[in-house]
Amino acid sequence: MGRLQKILIPFLGLLLAFWFYSARDTFTPEMLRGKRVIVTGASTGIGEQMAYHLARMGSHILVTARTEAKLQNVVQRCLELGAASARFVSGTMEDTAFAQHVVREAQTSLGGLDMLILNHVGASYFGFFDGDVEHVRKLLEINFLSYVAMTTSALPMLKESEGSIVVVSSMAGKVGFPFTVPYSATKFALDGFFSSLRQEFTIQSINVSITLCILGFIDTERAVRAAAEVLRERPAPRDECALEILKGAALRRRELYYRYSSTRLPLLLRDCAAELLDYLVRSRYRLPAPPGA
Ligand code: NAP
Repeated sequence: MGRLQKILIPFLGLLLAFWFYSARDTFTPEMLRGKRVIVTGASTGIGEQMAYHLARMGSHILVTARTEAKLQNVVQRCLELGAASARFVSGTMEDTAFAQHVVREAQTSLGGLDMLILNHVGASYFGFFDGDVEHVRKLLEINFLSYVAMTTSALPMLKESEGSIVVVSSMAGKVGFPFTVPYSATKFALDGFFSSLRQEFTIQSINVSITLCILGFIDTERAVRAAAEVLRERPAPRDECALEILKGAALRRRELYYRYSSTRLPLLLRDCAAELLDYLVRSRYRLPAPPGA
């Protein structure tokens, strides 16, 4: 009975919370028309798709990543799709000064900011942790510290517009995943920083929303190249994922789960059956046979 209560009560609570949040508002593309938006990591993958959706909705878009040639193509396509304006700044998020420079560029060229979408991710390996501490430090700089630096620089503009911060994270930032130890560490750090910041915004009546996006396996080139052979599940489409992130952001959701079935539902087990969840995570992989087997 006690065990049943432990599972049933949180489950019912979560069902009620889901019903409450999903019944609140509905998304319309007009919500993003004319909005001034920065999208990081937009030269490819989910970020590129977010830029195209924003363009169709008529937003002002500033995209950034390292590869200038790709960004030029993204900007061109955004203009063809109907963006109110589109421009890019290229550079690396290993450098905090560059992160701040991107925000200043929004101030100069857009005259303010309504939405900051933090999405870029540095390259890492897929395999057992190799003990390379310098790699962890570098990845923290790209995947975490630059997010903090951009948020800090953008905050005055976001306060003025009562805007939004969107943080693209992962299931690997909510539960331990094997083979992506440095990456997972950076994603857990994002949750800690932005969930705490949200609390402080509430205490200080700062009307800037923070949407943390918990994504499962998505069919971007990088992810498919790294994990398709070892993961048993099929990746979800990146254009649909990008649209769901924008909907969640426009509706000022606290957290966004995509796909719901492979992210939110398994996470219901985290507090009441953590070892079962760990087992389910491991069972998603085609693991190599142990040595000597
Ligand atoms: P992706 O296709 O690898 O794109 C990564 C983007 O980040 C690119 O635009 C890349 O452009 C940029 N980037 C990489 N290193 C950078 C650096 N040092 N400085 C500035 N920009 C840099 O990634 P994705 O799969 O779309 O993932 C997008 C987000 O979703 C990430 O935060 C990721 O963690 C999250 N996510 C993805 C999956 C998935 O299965 N795909 C699952 C869970 C969460 P350049 O190379 O031109 O710089």
